[in-house]
Amino acid sequence: IFYAGMGAGQAAVMVGDATKAKVACHDLFQLMDRVSAIDGLEPAATAATPQKLEAGRLEFRDVKFFYPFRPGVLVLKGTSFSISPGQSVGLVGPSGGGKSTVMSLIQRFYDPQEGQILIGADHVPLSAVNIRWWRRQIGFVGQEPILFNTTVRANIMYGLAEGESVSDEYVSQCEKISNLAFLYKNGNNGLETEVGPRGSRLSGGQKQRVAICRALMRNPPVLLLDEATSALDTQSEALVQQALEAAREGRTSFAIAHRLSTIQGCDVILVNADGRVVERGSHEELMALKGVYYNLQMQAQR
Ligand code: ADP
Ligand code: MG
Repeated sequence: IFYAGMGAGQAAVMVGDATKAKVACHDLFQLMDRVSAIDGLEPAATAATPQKLEAGRLEFRDVKFFYPFRPGVLVLKGTSFSISPGQSVGLVGPSGGGKSTVMSLIQRFYDPQEGQILIGADHVPLSAVNIRWWRRQIGFVGQEPILFNTTVRANIMYGLAEGESVSDEYVSQCEKISNLAFLYKNGNNGLETEVGPRGSRLSGGQKQRVAICRALMRNPPVLLLDEATSALDTQSEALVQQALEAAREGRTSFAIAHRLSTIQGCDVILVNADGRVVERGSHEELMALKGVYYNLQMQAQR
């Protein structure tokens, strides 16, 4: 495939529409067991034994980062936060502030130039963790899912590696979580339903629910959601939101919200502004603070 072996930045530049391409790359990396530039550069990054690591514990320590194509232009200027296993975390803040970049670094599409990203109770540097193992711990749902012109079944199985399989029981459990009941109505053919070119026979919300189901196939302990409902109208958003909430159950989850209301119930909300986490706490705590989060809420209500 065109993207194989390229960094996300490279592909984005070549495609032209950087925003679209960035989203597309996220999805493609996910689908191809996430081949990024890092993999090619450091094939031997396998030091830490996965069994010893808790995938759900994650810490950013004063992370500073710029994109290779914009040398010296810091996107993250000292980002620090930590996540405990099973926590639901929301990340909010002005657009362009580096939220999606944080997610790219979590998936190790890039390494930060300064600071540390640490995994597990033993604080193992992400750079010392087996990258394939790590990415298998993560389910990612972005803004616009990439579906292939085939059946729903083939589309949701695409995230699995060669030889990897899941039980029918687990698949139907994931169908329920993902709100895929529409596949059994209106003349649809269950998992054998054809989605059409780029998924065009499905609505936006249906496509996104197929993407959620795909992200769950490996039963990942960590779920990353980057504005997963932002491209949807209010009606389809409700069904997708419901699926996302069910999917987050029992996992560590990290969600970037388009609408603040979707992350209000998170255990911890991180507020990112200008490359730093400037506030953290529950919705109530952050409202009482009357700072950046409070102001974002006031703006949203206007
Ligand atoms: P957010 O998700 O909060 O809107 P992003 O992390 O997408 O912010 O972007 C933060 C900054 O990094 C922006 O200035 C954006 O233009 C820049 N940026 C994002 N992706 C890339 C990339 N692949 N190459 C170069 N710059 C990028
Ligand atoms: Mg973003």
